[in-house]
Amino acid sequence: MAKPTVAIVGRPNVGKSTIFNRIVGERISIVEDTPGVTRDRIYSPGDWLSYEFNLIDTGGIEIGDAPFLEEIRQQAEIAIAEADVIIFIANSREGVTSADEEVAKILYRSKKPVVLAVNKVDNPEMRAEIYDFYALGFGEPFPISGSHGLGLGDLLDEVVKNFPQIDEDDFDEDVIKFSFIGRPNVGKSSLVNALLNEDRVIVSDLAGTTRDAIDSSYQYEDQDFVIIDTAGIRKKGKVYESTEKYSVLRALKAIERSDVVLVVINGEEGILEQDKKIAGYAHEAGRAVIIVVNKWDAVEKDEKTMLKFEEQIREHFLFLDYAPIVFVSAKTKKRLTNLLPAIKTASENHSQRVQSSVLNEVIVDAVAMNPAPSDKGRRLKVYYATQVAIKPPTFVVFVNEPEIMHFSYERFLRNRIRDAFGFEGTPIRIITRQRS
Ligand code: GDP
Ligand code: GDP
Repeated sequence: MAKPTVAIVGRPNVGKSTIFNRIVGERISIVEDTPGVTRDRIYSPGDWLSYEFNLIDTGGIEIGDAPFLEEIRQQAEIAIAEADVIIFIANSREGVTSADEEVAKILYRSKKPVVLAVNKVDNPEMRAEIYDFYALGFGEPFPISGSHGLGLGDLLDEVVKNFPQIDEDDFDEDVIKFSFIGRPNVGKSSLVNALLNEDRVIVSDLAGTTRDAIDSSYQYEDQDFVIIDTAGIRKKGKVYESTEKYSVLRALKAIERSDVVLVVINGEEGILEQDKKIAGYAHEAGRAVIIVVNKWDAVEKDEKTMLKFEEQIREHFLFLDYAPIVFVSAKTKKRLTNLLPAIKTASENHSQRVQSSVLNEVIVDAVAMNPAPSDKGRRLKVYYATQVAIKPPTFVVFVNEPEIMHFSYERFLRNRIRDAFGFEGTPIRIITRQRS
């Protein structure tokens, strides 16, 4: 089930990031966070009652050096493009300002439900201040205080009431969902278009008429695929689409809905810090990952170029040692046909279940070959292992004392499992437990 997305909009200083933090609470966002720089946290899971959703603080998406009004307009556009429900925040202390009216005008034009919150109502006596805000035209304003945590329950009640009833991610179990992620201009939309125009690809329908997602379903050699959420990719031309934060936001959304994530790198430009960051999100989320080096046509090469590029990738993406690398060109379509089989294999490995008996033979052999080192006179004993989950394959290894399991030994076991069962393209998780 895809989680709905809620976006917070409003002009600067109304309290957007304060409220964002209140709602997502202490949870560690996968958008990594420099302490104190709340601005970096723009996307995080949140929940209310039994509802789960993703929350976006559009205020955290800076649009280059756009003038103030232009920036908040763009942020409102992002909210409309990305969210199922929009929380529009104004400031009770300042009344309705022309910037609020500007945001309101943009929000009217969308069909997305908008819940208006008036912030900084820190005590009940101040509730009278909210009536002016009816003028914004979004019905009853909800008085809240981000810094005191007041009124948020009523606000969230209203938000969840507006969640869409239809679940668009209701694809068949055996459909493989994948997405292209990466920095702006690496060629994501060109790759999608090139794939959809492949001769042997049968595009069967375009889903997503109820929401903004334009997922493409298609079939290739009897396997059904869905390219996830390429809306941001194919409807291009908005200024904010070239910003780094927005590309991260798109990546996170796409990762969440995918089984297999194709991390696209621009072969012409090489590997940049931002590529690593984006790839890191896919890895952390436990998705199957394929590294796609695009624009290979534009690279001047000799017989060593590809190998060298591969080495660089391995060096920079240590955590993605399991990810196959495919060199392609969306422009010339060279090697493009390698993508779908690679996606299929990665997906199969991602959902592979291994038999306990065979798994334990592998573990016994591994331990015999390379016994766990002792630590402060105590020796780790590995008793047995069992697979507890797929997507990604997750193994519980039972031992005498979990505290003395060293990460390097864990890595050794993981590699043995990988070698024995062929888990190319998927991360593997190992959980160490004490045998009870
Ligand atoms: P943003 O720019 O919209 O994200 O606003 P911030 O969340 O950064 O808040 C702007 C300022 O308003 C900060 O100094 C906050 O401490 C303050 N603030 C936020 N919420 C409240 C509130 O409910 N009451 C009061 N009095 N101040 C608040
Ligand atoms: P996105 O922002 O990641 O979706 O990137 P686009 O698909 O819009 O591509 C950005 C630019 O790179 C466009 O000008 C494309 O024509 C160009 N481009 C995309 N793929 C290739 C490729 O394989 N080779 C070359 N030479 N150019 C490409």
